Amino acid sequence: DITGANAAAEANEGGNRKVSTELIAREVKRRRTFGIISHPDAGKTTLTEKLLLFSGAIQLAGTVKARKSGRHATSDWMEIEKQRGISVASSVMQFEYRDHVVNLLDTPGHQDFSEDTYRVLTAVDSALMVIDAAKGVEEQTIKLLNVCRMRNTPIITFMNKMDRETRDPLELLDELESVLKIQCAPVTWPIGMGKNFRGVYHLLRDEIMLFKAGEERADGNVEIIKGIDNPKLVEMFPLEIEQLKMEVELVHGASHPFNLDDFLAGIQTPVFFGSAINNFGVREILNALLDWAPAPGGRDATVRSVTPTEEPFSGFVFKIQANMDPAHRDRIAFLRVCSGRFERGMKLKHLRLNRDIKVSSVVTFMASSREQVEEAYAGDIIGLPNHGNMQIGDSFSEGEMLQFTGIPYFAPDFFRVARIRNPLKIKQLHKGLQQLGEEGAVQVFKPVTGSDLILGAVGVLQFEVVASRLLNEYGVDAVFEGTSISSARWITCDDKKKLADFEKSSAGANLAVDAAGNLAYLASSGVNLRLTQERWPEVVFHATREHA
Ligand code: GDP
Repeated sequence: DITGANAAAEANEGGNRKVSTELIAREVKRRRTFGIISHPDAGKTTLTEKLLLFSGAIQLAGTVKARKSGRHATSDWMEIEKQRGISVASSVMQFEYRDHVVNLLDTPGHQDFSEDTYRVLTAVDSALMVIDAAKGVEEQTIKLLNVCRMRNTPIITFMNKMDRETRDPLELLDELESVLKIQCAPVTWPIGMGKNFRGVYHLLRDEIMLFKAGEERADGNVEIIKGIDNPKLVEMFPLEIEQLKMEVELVHGASHPFNLDDFLAGIQTPVFFGSAINNFGVREILNALLDWAPAPGGRDATVRSVTPTEEPFSGFVFKIQANMDPAHRDRIAFLRVCSGRFERGMKLKHLRLNRDIKVSSVVTFMASSREQVEEAYAGDIIGLPNHGNMQIGDSFSEGEMLQFTGIPYFAPDFFRVARIRNPLKIKQLHKGLQQLGEEGAVQVFKPVTGSDLILGAVGVLQFEVVASRLLNEYGVDAVFEGTSISSARWITCDDKKKLADFEKSSAGANLAVDAAGNLAYLASSGVNLRLTQERWPEVVFHATREHA
């Protein structure tokens, strides 16, 4: 592509941008970008906070938790607030640990926001799965793990809350293997549980780490006893140590030894036991992330795959968050850097608009604040402030026309018609829905006939969020009414004439255009959808779509 090459050359002339490939390679190698997945209440927030405390990124316990408004959800509404509390304030956190740069991405736990979660997981290289050891595998755990599996994302497992009465650890592993269909390789093994929780045995290092309760210990220093046969242990807790020896024998016989390649292929997960609230087992998790989890890898784009160490900058937007800070009314596009080096003041090519943009005040997300980005490399997440010209899935480069693939939208399952009480606010309604649609908070369809706007969601809580945000952020009091629509499919057709025929036919009355300008068919029932598909074999009906 000649235009692309020219633009890249131009950008390079712009300043002293002689970046050595070695520097980029070095920076990429020391990066880890991961997401935490869990069923609500398993301890994701607590663990996040301990990871930040442990790495020294924050000093005070309670910093993350304080952002989470409403500890106990008393209504759906509170649940939304709680969800937004997490995802708004701390959806991306960067910190350094052991000379590594760690990017931690939060994912909404509630299933109604699974679409958002899915897209966040397209931006990570590994995931940390938190399981409440008293409950085992829960519904959301299964869904999120399946999402990770689509890209074979390597997963580290943390069995949390060992300071409580939990399920039998062997049974937990068994459940993980049978329900989640993933091999388990225990790395640490619990000694007792609840009141008798003594610590964990590190199976690879033959060391015992003694448990001491205490929420505020940031250093995570634990007493270590070398060797499972150490006579000291029998003196300390004779009963538990006998049990441990038996279990370890069983574990060695019945489970898989840790294998790095299997972990990286997403076939096997190393399992750690601990207690997030007591900051116990957190260091092992961090070390596993740095030692075993992969550095940023290559990414597929339409024209070719992109290697993280190549010199030209590239990246894609996986999330948009508007009005993060009500005082600033801003709109931030979260971009995952895929290659090269981002520098402050750099000119970027917005590929969908085929336009150079100069992004000012690009931000990075430190654990407790937002800061100006000086530089960023593959795996880093940077925030691009914008006024609505950026969408989820947009790619940016230094000129080359490459569109990153694999950032999906899912056909919604729930539909509503948006109406307003005050007709004078129609403009604000459209503006608000357009922006919320671009943000991915809800999908917005404009039927080709008629003037109503149709909203589509993967989970019904999304409607509540949208209604409340329309009111708070756009001053629009909207009501969402039921519709006869039961499903939506995006439409493509290679044959232009056939498509025109389709649009003119009776089925054409069911067509609508989404926020990104894509044509969609809104079916009144499963039968209607099937019949239409049968009648128009040349037209392709898509249940997911990638970026326009
Ligand atoms: P999230 O919904 O997954 O983010 O879960 P939270 O981090 O908010 O934790 C849910 C509840 O479990 C809170 O009341 C925590 O204090 C509690 N919790 C978290 N980790 C532990 C732990 O290791 N032991 C015990 N006993 N409770 C914990």
